[in-house]
Amino acid sequence: EQDVAEYRKSLAIRVSGFDVPKPIKTFEDSGFSPQLMNAIKKQGYEKPTSIQCQALPIVLSGRDIIGIAKTGSGKTAAFVLPMIVHIMDQPELEKEEGPIGVICAPTRELAHQIYLEAKKFSKSNGIRVSAVYGGMSKFDQLKELKAGCEIVVATPGRLIDMIKIKALTMLRTTYLVLDEADRMFDLGFEPQVRSIVGQIRPDRQTLLFSATMPRKVEKLAREILTDPVRVTVGEVGM
Ligand code: ADP
Ligand code: MG
Repeated sequence: EQDVAEYRKSLAIRVSGFDVPKPIKTFEDSGFSPQLMNAIKKQGYEKPTSIQCQALPIVLSGRDIIGIAKTGSGKTAAFVLPMIVHIMDQPELEKEEGPIGVICAPTRELAHQIYLEAKKFSKSNGIRVSAVYGGMSKFDQLKELKAGCEIVVATPGRLIDMIKIKALTMLRTTYLVLDEADRMFDLGFEPQVRSIVGQIRPDRQTLLFSATMPRKVEKLAREILTDPVRVTVGEVGM
């Protein structure tokens, strides 16, 4: 107990919520498959960042999370790695269609960065990642979606477009990530985000990441997450 508190303090981590899993010290502590460990090594990631140390065990245990940490702290791997594990844990990958994991980001640039990171960790596992955001041809995206995928990385507007034209269903989606939630609000995407969340089964696992936590974002989190653990790294603004 005391050790865990000390270790969190050394990582500048604060947590709230019940039964919070202990932070890990190495990626090996997460019990990742050899393929995933290789992919991590290949990225040159030697040890988990602070947010990863605490977020990985929480998300791998199936809990919802609110993760607050500044830009550059390694939030992407904190949600992509458990997403890969979640997908590999599904009993019959082929049977149904539509993504198992959906990641929403506020801009196409951010979505594209996440797409590239997700690709790196998915390749060796045979997991397919689709991009659903502007700046790429809609035709190519439709083709990719039609071929099937386990992960979709999207901006809210384009995702809703694709759902409307039935290029994509979220019936199979059980893992939802809202990244850069504060910027999503700044850019006026709250209605789109709520609409997307409303179309995903309520027994999903939901992850919300943000660099800051204004009241509006906090309120949305309370509404759409179930018994979340809240993790803060360092000092954060409102
Ligand atoms: P954030 O989303 O918090 O802004 P990113 O996920 O984009 O941060 O990560 C920032 C940078 O740190 C990226 O270049 C990423 O590849 C790198 N990175 C992430 N995790 C690790 C790690 N465990 N070890 C070394 N570099 C890492
Ligand atoms: Mg990020």
